[in-house]
Amino acid sequence: MEITASEDRDVVIVGGGICGLATALALHRKGIRSLVLERSGDFRIEGAGIGILTNGWRALDQLGVGSKLRQTSIRLHGVRDIWLESGKQRQSPLSRGESRFLKRSDLIKTLADEIPPATIRFGCHIRSVEMDTLTSYPILQLHDGSTLRAKVLIGCDGAHSVVAEFLELKPKKIFATNAVRGFTYCPNGHGYASEFVRMRTRQALLGRIPVNDKLVGWFLVQQAGYPHADTEIAKDPELIRQQTLKRIMGCPAEMIELVKNCDLSSLSLTHLRYRAPWDILQGRFREGTITVAGDAMHVMGPFLGQGGSAGIEDAIVLARCLAPKLKEYDSVVSGKEMMVQKVLAEALDEYLKERRMRLFWLSTQTYLTGSLLDTSSLLAKLIILVLMAVLFRDPTWHTKYDCGNL
Ligand SMILES: Cc1cc2nc3c(=O)[nH]c(=O)nc-3n(C[C@H](O)[C@H](O)[C@H](O)COP(=O)(O)OP(=O)(O)OC[C@H]3O[C@@H](n4cnc5c(N)ncnc54)[C@H](O)[C@@H]3O)c2cc1C
Repeated sequence: MEITASEDRDVVIVGGGICGLATALALHRKGIRSLVLERSGDFRIEGAGIGILTNGWRALDQLGVGSKLRQTSIRLHGVRDIWLESGKQRQSPLSRGESRFLKRSDLIKTLADEIPPATIRFGCHIRSVEMDTLTSYPILQLHDGSTLRAKVLIGCDGAHSVVAEFLELKPKKIFATNAVRGFTYCPNGHGYASEFVRMRTRQALLGRIPVNDKLVGWFLVQQAGYPHADTEIAKDPELIRQQTLKRIMGCPAEMIELVKNCDLSSLSLTHLRYRAPWDILQGRFREGTITVAGDAMHVMGPFLGQGGSAGIEDAIVLARCLAPKLKEYDSVVSGKEMMVQKVLAEALDEYLKERRMRLFWLSTQTYLTGSLLDTSSLLAKLIILVLMAVLFRDPTWHTKYDCGNL
């Protein structure tokens, strides 16, 4: 669809990833129309699979897509940790709660299918965001030179967010580790139990998780090589596979086979970025009627498998806070614009107030877990372990969170 030179919209969402689509769907369920602007020509699906834990399922149920998604993946019943150097193993049942590993494409497609057609505009790359000095509403500058005015702007544009840049959020940081992710399809069935297996060495974490009887997701979190070399490798799936096979030499043969036989198109190599917990605590996540959600606000390492679910929670809370106010002032007369802006800004503050501490603790736990992998100093490892034991006596606390009804 062509964009006119200048256009006005009520709610504009930048980014059609998990969080942008979940936000559009949450608003739609509340009777609010929005426009999602996605820079890619189609849905951008990177990273093969995504783990969704109990809190994420609660949020997906609120969006009305939980039961459809449950049909795409098996329920996981346990976690097995294996320390490859010592051969030690620990099994923990997942008797309470719900954990599944989904194909990202299933999640994205299911969310998108529930949103009214024409909500998503592909090929719309937002170059920058400004505040209209006359109206104090946001103006988006697109790469094709056109502009778009919004009453509310929600930046769901991921780790390199232009909306976060407008809000002058502190730059995100990078862990010294990177992650390779992929799928392997086993036509005759993989025969694995419905468990999440994590194999640990001193410098790496290797894992596999079944999606269904024939599809297995796997990952390798490892000390990054030279960033430049990583960037070159990331563009070539065959190089990613070769590099991964080199890195897992000596690991169990079944893992080597999984990597050898992987679906090349599913492979990705990603640097692990995060917004520091203290920046989450202090960040100014709103200006006027502009805010952020998902990775744009709180990109975190994948160590708890919560980044995506946290973005879906954001969507529920944001829609719950915003929708009643938008409805109330739907047919506003021009003289009351300032009052409308004040009320919408208050709704966004309510959203941020509800989310901030949840995101602070999530990012603190992921930061500490990531730092444990990053550091080779025994003293630093000891300090981190003590901190984690004190702060997170129940390490699975984050799965018990309930973001509430939509
Ligand atoms: C290795 C790894 C493993 C992970 N595992 C899990 C897991 O198991 N469970 C879990 O819950 N989370 C996991 N995560 C985190 C999860 O992937 C992210 O939190 C989630 O994908 C973020 O979604 P998002 O929509 O906020 O951002 P993104 O997925 O980055 O989407 C942003 C979208 O915005 C678009 N965009 C960006 N800039 C612009 C622009 N200027 N104009 C227009 N469009 C733009 C992009 O094209 C993209 O489509 C993992 C992350 C990594 C790196």
